[in-house]
Amino acid sequence: MEATLYRGRFAPSPTGSLHFGSLVTALASYLDARACNGEWYVRIEDVDPPRERRGASRAILKVLETYGLTWDGEIIWQHDRYDAYREALERLRGQGIAYPCTCSRKELAKHGHVYPGTCRYRTKDPDSLFAIRLNCDTEVIEFNDRIQGRQRFDMAELGDFIIARKDKLFAYQLAVTVDDAWQGITHIVRGSDLLDSTPRQICLQRHLNSPTPSYAHVPVITNLDGSKLSKQTMAPALQMNNPAPILIKALQVLKIPVDDTVEITNVNAILAFAIHYWSSNGLM
Ligand code: GLU
Ligand code: ZN
Repeated sequence: MEATLYRGRFAPSPTGSLHFGSLVTALASYLDARACNGEWYVRIEDVDPPRERRGASRAILKVLETYGLTWDGEIIWQHDRYDAYREALERLRGQGIAYPCTCSRKELAKHGHVYPGTCRYRTKDPDSLFAIRLNCDTEVIEFNDRIQGRQRFDMAELGDFIIARKDKLFAYQLAVTVDDAWQGITHIVRGSDLLDSTPRQICLQRHLNSPTPSYAHVPVITNLDGSKLSKQTMAPALQMNNPAPILIKALQVLKIPVDDTVEITNVNAILAFAIHYWSSNGLM
C-alpha cells in the first residue's frame, strides 16, 4: 500500500457546539486534506472534564455531518489516551526537564503572563499539590507557517508552560503533542489563536522525539468589536436545517468564490467545488 503523504485532523474541545468561526477552521483543515488526497481525522479533545458541556461532542459531530465534512476512520477521544499522556509525562520528568510547580495563582499573577521559573531547581517533589511545567529555558523555536509565514519564538519570553495541572488533569499542550505524533498527523490547519501554542508543541516534540508537522494557522473570525468569536462568548450555534448558505459564507471567508455554476443548495456539490478550487489555488 502506498504511504499516505497527508494526514490532517480537526480537534475540537467539547466545551460547546461549533460556531461559525470553528466551522471555518474545520472547513480549511478538511479542504486542505481533501485537496491533497489526504486523510482527515476527528479527535475530540475531552481532557478537561470541568469545562466540558454535556452533549457538546455529539453536537459537534452532528454539525460536521450536516455540513458534509466526513472524516476518515474512527474518532479519537482523548479520555481514552490518559496512559499515553502519563507515559510522556514520565519520560519528560525522567529527562529532568519537567518539574513540579507549587506557585499559587496569586504568585503567578505577580509576573504577568510569563512564568519566571521560580520552581525550576527544586530537588525533591513537594508534599503539597503541584502542577508540572516544562523547562524551555533558552530554546528558540522557528517554523514556517503556510499562512502566517516565518515564525520565531523565544521560549524564554513565553515562559515554562504547564503540561500537567494541579488538579491532576493533563494539559492541552501535552495531550495534543502526544496525539498528533501517535496518529501520524503530517499537516495541522487550525485557528490563529493557537499560533503561540505551536512553539510549545514543537518544544515538546523535540523532547519526545516526535516529528514536527507542517502548520497553517487560519485567521480567526472576530466579533464586530474585534474580540474572538468563541463558544465562551456564546457565539450562536450553527443552524442545522439549511447548511448550504452558511457553508457558502464560510467559503467566502476562506476566499473561495462559489459561483452559480455550482448547485448552491447541495452541500456535497459545494464542497466538491471548494476542494477543486483549493487544489488549484492553494491555501487561502
Ligand atoms: N482543542 C483545541 C481547541 O478546540 C484545538 C486543538 C488543535 O487544533 O490543536 O481549541
Ligand atoms: Zn512555580
